[in-house]
Amino acid sequence: MGECERLQEILERISRACERSGRDPKEVTLLGATKTVPPEKIRKFYECGLKVFGENRAQEFLKKYEALRDLPIDWHFIGRLQTNKVKYLIGKVSLIHSLDRESLADEIQKRAEKNATVQEVLIEVNIGSEETKGGVYPEGLKKLAEYVLSKNNIRISGLMAIPPYREDPEEVRPFFARLRSLKEELERELGMNLPHLSMGMSHDFEVAVEEGATIVRIGTLLFGERT
Ligand SMILES: *Cc1c(COP(=O)(O)O)cnc(C)c1O
Repeated sequence: MGECERLQEILERISRACERSGRDPKEVTLLGATKTVPPEKIRKFYECGLKVFGENRAQEFLKKYEALRDLPIDWHFIGRLQTNKVKYLIGKVSLIHSLDRESLADEIQKRAEKNATVQEVLIEVNIGSEETKGGVYPEGLKKLAEYVLSKNNIRISGLMAIPPYREDPEEVRPFFARLRSLKEELERELGMNLPHLSMGMSHDFEVAVEEGATIVRIGTLLFGERT
């Protein structure tokens, strides 16, 4: 199957998941998760119509960003973010999915202010409370969100999570539902609208869409197995 066909097939699966759950497919953005994917391959998918891509590592991001500078790609950052790497991202990525601690908010604020921009972010929640994963634990979400709200050059637009892996995507559904309810709770507590839920990857994105995802992050299914 060619790149464009693969992309079309995934978009159709997203549309069908929307139909099943009474949603408008326009509410869901497909993000290509590009870790280990070379620039030439990203370019092909861009030409097929995929416009949003997300990287995990700052160094890899910078290389691809430079190699694809001629294209108006909408770049996101989706990986664990070290404080000392923030400076490479500001002004280049439209959305950081992985804000998970106060020190990172401090650094994003500092760099965004210096750059005279407002950085849009999602707060990453460790929805399965797994020690090996990034993200703020659900108990700490409200406090972190309030902290971030006090920063003038950061705008929170929603939540992101990487739930525990389960062979059967139906077993992941409760984690997606939990993230959605955390978002709704937070919207009430903060008195503001949070439009985005970034959740769902290659093996579970349809369930994520049924549970309200507005951004699905897909790597393997688009680009093939990582080597
Ligand atoms: C790798 C990655 C993805 C995509 O994973 P696939 O299973 O290959 O679709 C999505 N989100 C994040 C944060 C990732 O690191």
